[in-house]
Amino acid sequence: MTGSANSRLFRQAKTVIPGGVNSPVRAFKAVGAKPIFIQKAKGPYLWDADGNKYIDYCLSWGPMILGHARRQVLHEVKKVMANGTSFGIPTKLETSLATMIVQAIDSVEKVRLVNSGTEAVMTAIRLARGCTGRDKVIKFVGCYHGHVDHMLVQAGSGATTFGMPSSPGVPRDFTKHTILLPYNDLQSLEKAFDKYANKIAAVIVEPVAGNMGVVLPKKGFLKAIRKMCTRNGSVLIFDEVITGFRLTYGCVQKLFRVKADLTCLGKIIGGGFPIGACGGKAELMDNLAPQGQVYQAGTLSGNPVCVAAGISTLKLLKSVKPYRSLELATQRLCDGIDQALQKRNLKHTINRIGSMFTLFFNAEIVTDYASAVKSDTARYASFFTAMLKAGIYLPPSQFEACFVSTEHRLKDFNKTIAAVRKVSQQ
Ligand SMILES: *Cc1c(COP(=O)(O)O)cnc(C)c1O
Repeated sequence: MTGSANSRLFRQAKTVIPGGVNSPVRAFKAVGAKPIFIQKAKGPYLWDADGNKYIDYCLSWGPMILGHARRQVLHEVKKVMANGTSFGIPTKLETSLATMIVQAIDSVEKVRLVNSGTEAVMTAIRLARGCTGRDKVIKFVGCYHGHVDHMLVQAGSGATTFGMPSSPGVPRDFTKHTILLPYNDLQSLEKAFDKYANKIAAVIVEPVAGNMGVVLPKKGFLKAIRKMCTRNGSVLIFDEVITGFRLTYGCVQKLFRVKADLTCLGKIIGGGFPIGACGGKAELMDNLAPQGQVYQAGTLSGNPVCVAAGISTLKLLKSVKPYRSLELATQRLCDGIDQALQKRNLKHTINRIGSMFTLFFNAEIVTDYASAVKSDTARYASFFTAMLKAGIYLPPSQFEACFVSTEHRLKDFNKTIAAVRKVSQQ
């Protein structure tokens, strides 16, 4: 697996890139392994620098729902690229993608395109604070909203704790307005609203969490947040950077029948290119400069190449309507994995919705961060490494989501399940 070329490339990378990677989890540290370097990808497969082939269940952390190097997407990108790659002046492509997003998401009337999910969240929070004139933001423990300063906070042990920065370089003052609460815990949410009612600018939540592993919202959780935000004049922000166009054509808020005030998107809407978006009601969104006073900008925002890839991806998703079959396929895969592990008596639990899932090596059900971290990460690490050796690429951390694309086939699932059976024997 980590053969000679992979190791050599990693060694070289480390001499000029901190840790050898441009995003930490890529270093495979959480699973005690060395990273593979990718040479090429097609459909559901990756090939590394040593020529090993893998079935990919990470899909660039979610975006590649149509598989890698999708012909139609590449075609559109090449066509657009030939006419120039960046102007810093509007193009009609931006309006096309914005229109597709507005049509797909009930709660979104206007949308601002940015370059990453992190930027989408930054924009949403600044907008919420700017519109409400309030400072405090409620965030749930285990939800990831990009690497923006005031969202980089993790839990203390109490129920309601003010955020302690989880990274050096984030001043305490920057996170003191971030209120951390356990996911799926309505009581602590009610308490926080009782205490800080008219100080809370926004509640931000992953409506289906994907960054502590997949964790589903309990029945009524999202609706209750909606109610409390409405009652207290706080802005409800759904971070759908993963879930947007992953579980349905549009957002997961449609499936749960809850409307966010602001929605953050990224990943799939860029079809494998860097993008993000923040959208919501016109009366909120029009507070953004130049219409309004809340400043937000970006040299490469709405970049024609990224936007073309996004349009082409959404068009395909809209016409192919893959969601039902993705769900069935993923269910079948998870059932197979589950049975294979049960036979070996390995304590585990699988959280799944649509085509995203996490296999936790955990004896209990996982409903929040506290239960997620009880997982056996050493077991996951050895499982990851053995699976990689067997040609199956899973996310290199216990606390990430696995994704299935439209290009995964039954033979891929069978191979995966057979590998699970084999590696769990050891
Ligand atoms: C990936 C992710 C982000 C950050 O997006 P980037 O493009 O990596 O900046 C934000 N929120 C959620 C829920 C994500 O999964």
